Amino acid sequence: MSRFIQIVEVGPRDGLQNEKLSLSVDEKLDLIRKLEAAGARRTEVVSFVNPNRVPQMAGAEEIMTALSADLEHARIGLVLNMRGWERCVAAQCDEANVVVCASDGFGLANQGATVRQQIDALAAIAERQAVEGGPPITATISVAFGCPFDGEVSEDQVVAIVREAAALGVAEIAIADTIGVADPWTVRKRIEAARAAAPDTRLRMHFHDTRNTGLANAYASVEAGVDVLDASVGGLGGCPFAPNATGNIGTEDLVYMLERAGFETGYDLAALIEIGREISAKLGKAPASSLARAGGFPA
Ligand code: ZN
Repeated sequence: MSRFIQIVEVGPRDGLQNEKLSLSVDEKLDLIRKLEAAGARRTEVVSFVNPNRVPQMAGAEEIMTALSADLEHARIGLVLNMRGWERCVAAQCDEANVVVCASDGFGLANQGATVRQQIDALAAIAERQAVEGGPPITATISVAFGCPFDGEVSEDQVVAIVREAAALGVAEIAIADTIGVADPWTVRKRIEAARAAAPDTRLRMHFHDTRNTGLANAYASVEAGVDVLDASVGGLGGCPFAPNATGNIGTEDLVYMLERAGFETGYDLAALIEIGREISAKLGKAPASSLARAGGFPA
């Protein structure tokens, strides 16, 4: 049997959050439903940030209400703090993805909290979940390869957060290259270091293609034994700190590369290409994914 690589679709959240145009709740629901029909089993659908600060993410509760629960599809909500956790529980998300920035500079700019304060918030959330119940918690370590404010982020900084998150019983830890500065060799080293620090915790990797290293980094991750990766249809998104940057690695590009090599992903490539083209047109831009331009092979 060939190896299955799970791709978590993050276009409706990470993709749309970094686009200039905001979509309506109905347009977002249409995108999410099409992605699920195309094979997305875990999808980051909403973010429980303050919509006054991030207008692209407005309507989280409405979106979760409209998506009737089913056992096949996990809907993930992004959480930055206790208020976000409370909203995530009330909205009945299937998973909460709690973000901890690897650098103080990014944490303070983005979430108004230092690394220490964010880890403390994650601990408080995990504690409440243990007592009161709620969805499983995953943690994403953002700017884990470099920070637009503080510059280089060391392996030690990342490993320290991995160790603390694992000790809190977090189900899965994502290591995220939020601004797209990683290279595949460093990716491998960080995966090995994270695994040594938290051997029983599942690792997920999250790459942005800002400097054209996204797919190479995904390849390095799979070679290093990681079998969960984030991607965004159409390569949606940008980067607030890099003008004209592309977003996450495109789901269709990742599916193509993996399936061409014999891995299974559970996605329908032709459907993904269509969705990537359509959503990019709706956002008034050319699709950033290569497959949206070139199509699959064989045709
Ligand atoms: Zn991201």
